[in-house]
Amino acid sequence: KIDVKTSRKSAAKSVPVKIPSTSSEIPAHVPYLLVGGGTAGFSAFRAIKSLDAKAKVLILSEEGYLPYMRPPLSKEVWYDPDSEKKDELTFKQWNGSEKSLFYEPEDFYISPKELDENPNGGVAVARGWRVERIDPFKRIAYLEDGHEIKYEKCLLATGAKPKSLNIFSKAPEAIQKHITTFRGIPDYVELNEIVKETDSIAIIGGGFLGSELACALSRRASLENPKLKVYQIFKEPGNMHKVLPEYLSLWTTNKVAKEGVHIIAGSEVQDVKLEGNEVSLMLNDGKKVSVNKVIVAVGVEPNTYLAEKSGLEVDPDCGGFLVNAELEARSHLYAAGDCSCFYDIKFGRRRVEHHDHAVISGRLAGENMVGAGKPYLHQSMFWSDLGPDIGFEAIGIVDSSLPTVAVFAKASEKDSPKAIVAESNDNIRSNLEAQNVSTTSSSPSPVNTQKTSAENTGTDDYGKGIIFYLRDELVVGIVLWNVFRRMTVARQVLKDDRKYDDLNEVAKLFHIFDE
Ligand code: FAD
Ligand code: NAD
Ligand code: NAD
Repeated sequence: KIDVKTSRKSAAKSVPVKIPSTSSEIPAHVPYLLVGGGTAGFSAFRAIKSLDAKAKVLILSEEGYLPYMRPPLSKEVWYDPDSEKKDELTFKQWNGSEKSLFYEPEDFYISPKELDENPNGGVAVARGWRVERIDPFKRIAYLEDGHEIKYEKCLLATGAKPKSLNIFSKAPEAIQKHITTFRGIPDYVELNEIVKETDSIAIIGGGFLGSELACALSRRASLENPKLKVYQIFKEPGNMHKVLPEYLSLWTTNKVAKEGVHIIAGSEVQDVKLEGNEVSLMLNDGKKVSVNKVIVAVGVEPNTYLAEKSGLEVDPDCGGFLVNAELEARSHLYAAGDCSCFYDIKFGRRRVEHHDHAVISGRLAGENMVGAGKPYLHQSMFWSDLGPDIGFEAIGIVDSSLPTVAVFAKASEKDSPKAIVAESNDNIRSNLEAQNVSTTSSSPSPVNTQKTSAENTGTDDYGKGIIFYLRDELVVGIVLWNVFRRMTVARQVLKDDRKYDDLNEVAKLFHIFDE
């Protein structure tokens, strides 16, 4: 069982418990040092261990927790208002089976003190400890108290932190008490208490986090606290507008509203005032929204503050530690996950802020730390769910400013994230890729709706479909809209690098017309 009690004691934000409490118990020399105990760090550990069974790996994590996954925090954790379970940081999947947020229980890890002595190696996590600086030439990491750790190979997997808006971060303290960002367990623990009692929450931002959380909190309200009103305020015309073509973004916004979310699209917060126990948000169109709590979900910035002190390069456009296709920043020093801007041989320089990218790039960095010398070739995917009925998976460059061609078909109840998680018993959908279908189909195509990004009716029923994103007429990205377990097919289409005369034919490979 996880040390939730210790963790919960430190639920007060930004004061993580330090385990071990003194840096003298952290080894002064390690073969493998992983800075950051998120998904990328944990994935690197797994790869190192599989290639070097007796490897000694030290993870240093500023967060007061063992490595855990973030995706359920804006989805599944809210659908089960069983407060007792919340204490254990577990959640129920749609089929009722229970899972932990933590990748491994506490007894999987060895203590930092024992790492050096253990003949079979293992992984130790020093929690609540922050690396301030690296000397890549001497291969030393410096902790906040000056403690030095000499490494042979080091990975930077420091992730990202939420941005805020000046209007909130510069507001008086009395207002700031009502404002929060949302990234990890302490944010969840705090918000979980708030949703039980509060009348109103406003989420600012129309991207992944804002949209998923708005749907999840609204559903939670219907289960536990029907008086709670959830607003979502964003400047774009529709949800996930930077990813979805306009007509689909607008259609999705209707669906999010049906989940009970009070959507205020095309709006920005211009002023914020304290009025009694509420904050009033003044919007640019003159509207006023008064709420108890505001959650700011306006994107993240990569944690690269140690770059300057360490002589490391940060990409001026994407942010993130600049690394090559082998994920190396300098000799013996790698970066992976949200914090890294890597060279993708197929699509050019990129930084990706998704779970599967953290898994894949963490794994690649781990393999290379053991000497594999492999470049980034395997593309990561991502997924997003807006409540139980709408979900999508995507791969490649999915940017709504590109021209798109989409083919839709009628959906049934089983074309939903709820159905696929219930059937597969896995909420981490990147894990489902192994269970794919063959890439050939002889089924005839019944009536379907094809759309290019120029068309925009907002009235059709986009139950399920395939959206192709084109650059120089080549398919560079694909969204599988309520279509699951077809990622291998999408991967193949991207790899083919062909100009297709008729993407309808390509859509058939995904079997969307089969039932
Ligand atoms: P992180 O998970 O941010 O981990 C980095 C760790 O490094 C943190 O623990 C941090 O405290 C630590 N750290 C930072 N600096 C230092 C330092 N100097 N010294 C020591 N430690 C340090 N993606 C999807 O694809 N699908 C989803 O459905 C999805 N849902 C999400 C839901 C939520 C609520 C959030 C917040 C994100 C979601 N994501 C999702 C995105 C995904 O979780 C991230 O892309 C992923 O967590 C990135 O992993 P990482 O290891 O790079 O960074
Ligand atoms: P995001 O980048 O997806 O969306 C940012 C939103 O903030 C957009 O609506 C944008 O218009 C808005 N915004 C940006 N600057 C603004 C400004 N100055 N004023 C007003 N609005 C502004 O980021 P997010 O939704 O905050 O998500 C946080 C992180 O978590 C991201 O890295 C995201 O990828 C990740 N995440 C991913 C998933 C998923 O993959 N399913 C789910 C949740 C979170
Ligand atoms: P489009 O109708 O031109 O189609 C986009 C791309 O998809 C084109 O490359 C087209 O050849 C391809 N395509 C369409 N159907 C296909 C099929 N069945 N199989 C294979 N490929 C297929 O859409 P668009 O690019 O959005 O532009 C439409 C009009 O709007 C153009 O006149 C454009 O100049 C204008 N416009 C578009 C944008 C934009 O961001 N998309 C912005 C401003 C203006």
